[in-house]
Parts: sequence; C-alpha cells; structure tokens
Amino acid sequence: MKVYQQYINGEFRDAASKEQFEVVNPYTEKVVAMAPKGGAEDAEAALEAADASQKAWAAKPCAERASYLKKMAEIIRKNRMELASVLAEEQAKVMPLALAEIDSTSEYFDYYAGWARKYEGEVIQSDRPTENILLHRQPIGVVVGVCPWNFPFFVMARKVAPSLLTGCTIILKPSSETPNTTFEFAKMIADIGLPKGVLNFVAGGGATLGDTLVRSPKVGLVTLTGSVETGQSILAATAENITKTSLELGGKAPAIICSDADLDLAVKAVIDSRVIFSGQVCNCAERAYVDASIYDEFMDKLVKGMEAVAYGDPFADPAPGMSSQINAEQLSKIESMVEQAKADGAEVLAGGCRAADQPTGFFYKPTVLANCAQDMEIIRKEIFGPVLPVVKVADFDEALDFANDCEYGLTSSIFTNNVAKMMRAINELKFGETYVNREHFEAIQGFHAGWRKSGIGGADGKHGLYEYLQTHVTYIQY
Ligand code: NAD
Repeated sequence: MKVYQQYINGEFRDAASKEQFEVVNPYTEKVVAMAPKGGAEDAEAALEAADASQKAWAAKPCAERASYLKKMAEIIRKNRMELASVLAEEQAKVMPLALAEIDSTSEYFDYYAGWARKYEGEVIQSDRPTENILLHRQPIGVVVGVCPWNFPFFVMARKVAPSLLTGCTIILKPSSETPNTTFEFAKMIADIGLPKGVLNFVAGGGATLGDTLVRSPKVGLVTLTGSVETGQSILAATAENITKTSLELGGKAPAIICSDADLDLAVKAVIDSRVIFSGQVCNCAERAYVDASIYDEFMDKLVKGMEAVAYGDPFADPAPGMSSQINAEQLSKIESMVEQAKADGAEVLAGGCRAADQPTGFFYKPTVLANCAQDMEIIRKEIFGPVLPVVKVADFDEALDFANDCEYGLTSSIFTNNVAKMMRAINELKFGETYVNREHFEAIQGFHAGWRKSGIGGADGKHGLYEYLQTHVTYIQY
C-alpha cells in the first residue's frame, strides 16, 4: 500500500491533523493508497512557503527557471511506464491513454521551457518628446492550482509549467480521487535542486484546505479545472480579495453532422470522442445534431460502432476502448440521466444500462440515445459518461441554433466537406474551440478556453502563458 505525504517547502510531511484518506482503484474497488487529508493549517504552511520563495525565484533568469522544466520533462520520460501504471490504477484509465497522458505531460514541460527566451514586453509610443513608455510582463506571484480527477497529471503540468516559467510559485491541490501520480512526481523531482517553496503539492478537501488556499490574500492567481459548481464557489471566495481567477469548467460539446459529411469519418471521430476515458472528458462530444437526410445511415453506423466498443480491465492487453467510471456516484449520475432521458421520450438504440458482465468496477455500457429533443436534460446537462444523445435536425441552420442554445461553451465540432458550411460554423458557433472533420481534442500550443459557464480565461500556448503574467507599464521621462 502506498502512503503519501504533503510536499511543502521542499519537505515531505504528514497532514498537520495526521489524518489520511483512501484512494481507490475504481476497476478493482480496492484501496491502493493513503493520502494526507490536509486542512487549513497545511494550506497556510504551503502559502507561507510559496510566498516567501517567490521574489528570489522571479529574480532568476527565465532560462534558468526553464532548465527545471526540462529536468521535469526528462524525469517523466524516464519514468513513463511507472507513472502510467499509477495513473491507470488510480482512475481506471486504459494503459494506452494513461501513457498518452504521461507523454503529453513531458511534452508540456518541454513546450513551456521553450518559451523562456520568447515572451516579451512592448515599447509604446509616447505623446511626449522625451519619454519612453515600456510595458513589462511580470509574474503574477503565488498561484493556487486546483485540479480535477479526469486528467490529473496533465492538468498538474498545465498549471505548474507556466507558473514556474514565468517566475510564479505554486501550490497545487490534486483531486482527492486521484492524488497518486502528483505525489509520485513530487518524489521524483524532490532532488533536482528546485528552491524550497517554489513548488508545493497539498491534498485535502475542497471545502476545507482548498477554500483556505483560494481565499488567501497572498495569492495572485487561482486556476481551477473542475465543475461549474466548484467554479461558482471559488469565484465567490476569490471575490473577497479580487484575486484573478482562471476557470476551466465543464462542457456539453455539440457535434454537427451535415448532409454532405464523410459518415465513416464522422462516426469514428464521434465514437472515439465519446468513449475516450469512459466519456469523462470535458472537451468531448456530448450531443450530436444529425441532418435528417443522412440520419438513418449515420445512426446505423453509430450503433454498430458503439456496440463494438470493448470495455474492461484498464491493464488488459490488448487494451479495451474504455474501462470503469471513476466511482459509484458518477455511475449513478449517468444512470439517472439516462432514465430521465427515457422518461422524456428518448429511445435506447445501444447500451442504456450498467454493464453487468464485469466482476468489479463501475461500468456503464456505451450508449446511443435516439429521438432526443433540444429541451431534454440529456441534451442540456453534462453527462460525463459514455452516452451519446442524438437529435435529428431539419437543416444546417437548426443545427447551428441548437448547438449554440447551451449554457456551456467549451468545444464543438462539425463534419462537412462544404466550405460555406464550414466557414459559417467557424463564424457562428459560440465556443472556445471548433474541430472540423476530426475528434475533439486540443493541442498544447492552442488556447483551451471556454465561453459562458465553461469558464473564464484559459490554458496552453502563448495566451495560456499570459494568464500567469501581469502587465506593468512604466513612463520614463528624460
Ligand atoms: P470538481 O469541481 O468536483 O473538483 C475539482 C477540484 O476542485 C477538486 O480538487 C476539488 O477538491 C476542488 N474543490 C471543490 N470545491 C472547492 C472549493 N470550494 N474550493 C477550492 N477547491 C475546491 O470537479 P471534478 O469532478 O474533479 O472534475 C470533473 C469536472 O471538471 C467536469 O465538469 C469536467 O468537465 C471538468 N473539467 C474541465 C476541464 C477543462 O479544461 N475545461 C478539464 C477537465 C475537467
């Protein structure tokens, strides 16, 4: 049994309360680790350490700070199999996807290390003859990063890499469902020479330890990846000190299948997008709008494809397409949403129930729901499971209107070979991302940022870097 400790000010220590919580492998339902159940005292210690070390950290040349990111990337690459196993075990992520997450995390550290000599300030024209106006980009200070359970390792890097590169220090809180990979990483990087306090990992409850972290006046930026409800709580807490808050929240991504689409490509992309990590991905296709003229053909292919998705042990070789949901609560939520959809008039064409053929775990069958309508809960609320509700649309205008009629605005996709439809989708879809003729998944050099309730601010690329920097304009008269 693994036992983890907090990583605060360069030291491993138990939670101040000495309490621990259990981390369960969702596939076997067995406890695989004990993690520290931190509270306000742990949060204060981490805040103190991050605050005390920030000035000296920011004073180092950016290329020197970047050298630590490169070391982290190297360590992850060297330990990729071990980290992927820990990840697969703590959240029932199938091994190929766990490996892909580990590999993209090392790339993420390398990518942001590459920004060291690239980000710049500006020289602005002055109205006065003997004056220069300079805009500097300076670190925002102490960052609090709050992570979800679905991509715990990658999202950790999404917050740690830009923080350290820009001269910020960070306290990162993993989800209590999935703290293991983060704490394994802490052990791996503990002796790379990072100054004490620059990087801190603390686990504990959101409403206790998390709340103390996000409310602190020492903090320059709070960055959460999580649910809308948590985003609302954190926004209310950060309002107290007007702390900058970046929110990457839930999604309800529409996939629009046009009459001229390559149906085989569309079906494959939508299925891949719906079952990846058992449907527990914020950016993936959560509802489909299919043109009436190709509806029957599309549904026939979709049902065959979803029924062919294998599920089972995340460590099995060859790997199944998906595995267990994260816990019993998520499984019940999916089940009750499908039951409600059926009561609302949806027809189950595939799946539609728990998978009884698995000895352990929280499995829901890959599911296709037909006859869905725009006002149903299943079309409006995030499912976060392998369930695809489909709406038949009369034409392209109706598809666009329905896609936009949603409180979320993270990602969207369109399948068409018609340039005019593609351009209209790009111009009219009100989402942070639109994927054309491909599955939903963003690139590290893009900008992952949701509209409406999907969030504020964003991550990745140049614009993600700017979240961690604040401008400082100087007027120099000579
Ligand atoms: P969650 O909101 O339940 O928890 C996220 C984190 O917030 C956890 O670490 C939790 O302990 C912490 N937390 C909860 N209350 C808090 C509080 N009051 N103060 C401080 N911290 C608090 O989310 P989850 O169930 O772990 O993740 C699933 C959700 O995340 C889904 O809605 C999904 O769409 C979303 N998500 C979004 C993105 C994105 O990039 N937009 C990526 C991954 C997941």
